[in-house]
Amino acid sequence: MRSNLSSVPIPRRLGERPRDPRGLPIPYVVLVINGKPDFRITDVERWATVVNHRLCALCGEPLGARVAFIGGPKSNISRCFTDGPMHRDCAEYAIRVCPYLALRHMKRTDDTVAPDGVALKVIEEMDEERPERFFVGITTRYEVDLLPSGSAYIRAGEWDSVAWFRHGEPVGPPEAPATATPSPTS
Ligand SMILES: [Zn+2]
Repeated sequence: MRSNLSSVPIPRRLGERPRDPRGLPIPYVVLVINGKPDFRITDVERWATVVNHRLCALCGEPLGARVAFIGGPKSNISRCFTDGPMHRDCAEYAIRVCPYLALRHMKRTDDTVAPDGVALKVIEEMDEERPERFFVGITTRYEVDLLPSGSAYIRAGEWDSVAWFRHGEPVGPPEAPATATPSPTS
């Protein structure tokens, strides 16, 4: 969490969302129980709604031709995500103030049921595997597929563009893996 949270302007559509006591907009897909959001919990019904109807997982408004996803170096390559598609401006806001506003990367999921019968998906935040850099990837399409466990995930299309961030600031891409090519001598 960046300390200068209030210095980052909230994009218009995300600004319509209710705020938590820290002033963070409460993402559309976050489950709210008795008026209290639990940022660890994805509301499965809302997740299905945004994915199926091409809405933004953060603000809940319709997406345009291009959609954004947030991830680390591994999902940049795999293009596999468990978190929903977003507007570019909503995604860039999240990545600047707190990537985990958008990214509840799963270490493990427990499917459970709330007292009112609503199916929940409890997502534990990654800890030791938190990547140093996050990216916003822009694409025009995605599809939903199922893991052998039955959990749904999203596979994004080819990236039109990718922007990397570290501690909320724009940076270059992660170092490419070393190759066996010898350095040129001069
Ligand atoms: Zn949005």
